[in-house]
Amino acid sequence: MSIEVFNITKRFGAFTALDNVSLHVPSGELVALLGPSGSGKTTLLRVIAGLESPDKGTVLFDGGDITEQHVRQRQVGFVFQHYALFKHMSVFKNIAFGLRVRTRATRPSARDIEQRVMRLLKLVQLDKFANRYPSQLSGGQRQRVALARALAVEPRVLLLDEPFGALDAKVRVELRRWLRRLHEEIHVTSVFVTHDQEEAMEVADRIVVMSNGRIEQVGAPEDVYHHPANPFVYNFLGNVNLFHARVVNGRPEITGSGPGLGVDSKTRAHDRAEALVYVRPHMMDIDAIPRGDISVRARVKHVNAAGPLVKVELTAPENDDIHVELPQERYRSLRLKQGDDVFVIPRDMRLFVNAG
Ligand code: ADP
Ligand code: MG
Repeated sequence: MSIEVFNITKRFGAFTALDNVSLHVPSGELVALLGPSGSGKTTLLRVIAGLESPDKGTVLFDGGDITEQHVRQRQVGFVFQHYALFKHMSVFKNIAFGLRVRTRATRPSARDIEQRVMRLLKLVQLDKFANRYPSQLSGGQRQRVALARALAVEPRVLLLDEPFGALDAKVRVELRRWLRRLHEEIHVTSVFVTHDQEEAMEVADRIVVMSNGRIEQVGAPEDVYHHPANPFVYNFLGNVNLFHARVVNGRPEITGSGPGLGVDSKTRAHDRAEALVYVRPHMMDIDAIPRGDISVRARVKHVNAAGPLVKVELTAPENDDIHVELPQERYRSLRLKQGDDVFVIPRDMRLFVNAG
């Protein structure tokens, strides 16, 4: 089942929560809506579900207009961060609930329900827990039950709103890998809301980056990470250093470094234009002497060598603090310590010229 939203606008009073949003989710894909809190992710999910009706625009399932359709007719499955299970019901009964409340004409037989619930329990790896109550499960197990309950009614699309948001970091990582594998088995068209870029990149076929009720970029995880469309996406998808620059003779110069910064030829800039240069911390090297086209003078402020990469924080006289991540070997051969005067050398960078 493909999902298409077309020119959706949703206002709450004078506030525009969704501003002319269009998006196509191909059948069988798992798409992540990624953005900071308040960017409109939940509102878009609720519009797709039929829990919120848009002021403008259309929602289509498999090309058919369902904008006016009631949530019950849309056959969507939900998992929310705090979509509480029924406390007084066993795991089995929680999952069976959506089937048992159906009218007699559409309700499967008791045997079919039992078989389906047991199959789902296996799928979410909880087949030994059928008779437990929610209070006897961990947070991660509860969310897996919530997912099985959503899948029990064989939804046409699955909508997940920060389903792992309330779980601790380690469980989150396990569950998102598990969800990815599950999706590869069942291939239900799914929309997954998160504000966590790592989670989005690990779970999704495609990422939709949102801010202020608009879509900033849509692409495969590696696409949006390596080719961010604008400074917002660059910033949101990982740590980044920002340098101020000015274009001189068609080439941008970083404040406090030498001239001649090489920039991708796609960027056109007129002379004296102000520009911002973005560099990810692991895309920078440090050296005792200036090297290559650009070397920014800096002083080591703090070193944290715990972890796969060594995190070095530096102050630079004409720039903001700089964060560099070095391989352990490189760090050891440099013998870096606090207070050292060094040069920071970007290996890969992205230039955004200020408009106007
Ligand atoms: P996200 O899920 O990305 O955090 P939401 O879609 O929940 O964002 O909300 C987007 C914006 O719309 C927020 O500023 C929020 O306060 C506002 N909003 C959402 N729902 C309502 C509502 N029912 N009434 C008024 N404002 C709302
Ligand atoms: Mg939300």
